[in-house]
Amino acid sequence: KRAFYIGRFQPFHNGHLTVIDRITREADELIIGIGSAQLSHDLENPFTAGERVLMITRALEGLCCPYYVIPIEDIKRNALWVAHITSMTPPFDTVYTSNPLVIRLFSEAGIPVCSPSMFKRESHSGTSIRDRMRAGKPWERLVPSAVVDVIHEIHGIDRIRDLDRDDG
Ligand code: ATP
Ligand code: MG
Repeated sequence: KRAFYIGRFQPFHNGHLTVIDRITREADELIIGIGSAQLSHDLENPFTAGERVLMITRALEGLCCPYYVIPIEDIKRNALWVAHITSMTPPFDTVYTSNPLVIRLFSEAGIPVCSPSMFKRESHSGTSIRDRMRAGKPWERLVPSAVVDVIHEIHGIDRIRDLDRDDG
């Protein structure tokens, strides 16, 4: 059985890791789709697709189950989105997502969906982690240590701070 898990992973955090942990117990192979792959360098989407690939592959080093990481650009046609995804990925049997629109689109396409429960969602969301980075509050415990290393390597906090400044 091959499973598909999609997110923007801005950044990849410990909540995402708990979902992947569950998937590895239920599936033989995992496809991770990096959504909105074309976006970077804005406050909602600070990291490039390539930087997100790096975060995920470093964080999953030593994962028992084979996996593929595939950046996927947005198409602004929800009715065609599932076909867009499947044109970019190996075939899969199940989708893991809690996003209501994603659930609906895959269900309408006849692809089974699992919705894993949320892990400490108050603190473990991309939005709140980006807010903490911007505000200079601690964020390091909310992401895998390999992700802390990547963000330091790419000077990610400096980038977010710069994106938050206005000109003049
Ligand atoms: P953002 O606040 O930027 O939307 P996010 O934390 O929701 O970030 P996404 O990349 O949007 O992260 O999420 C990808 C998938 O991971 C979605 O299906 C989402 O529901 C799930 N997810 C996000 N946070 C958690 C969490 N804490 N526990 C379990 N699943 C999560
Ligand atoms: Mg989200």
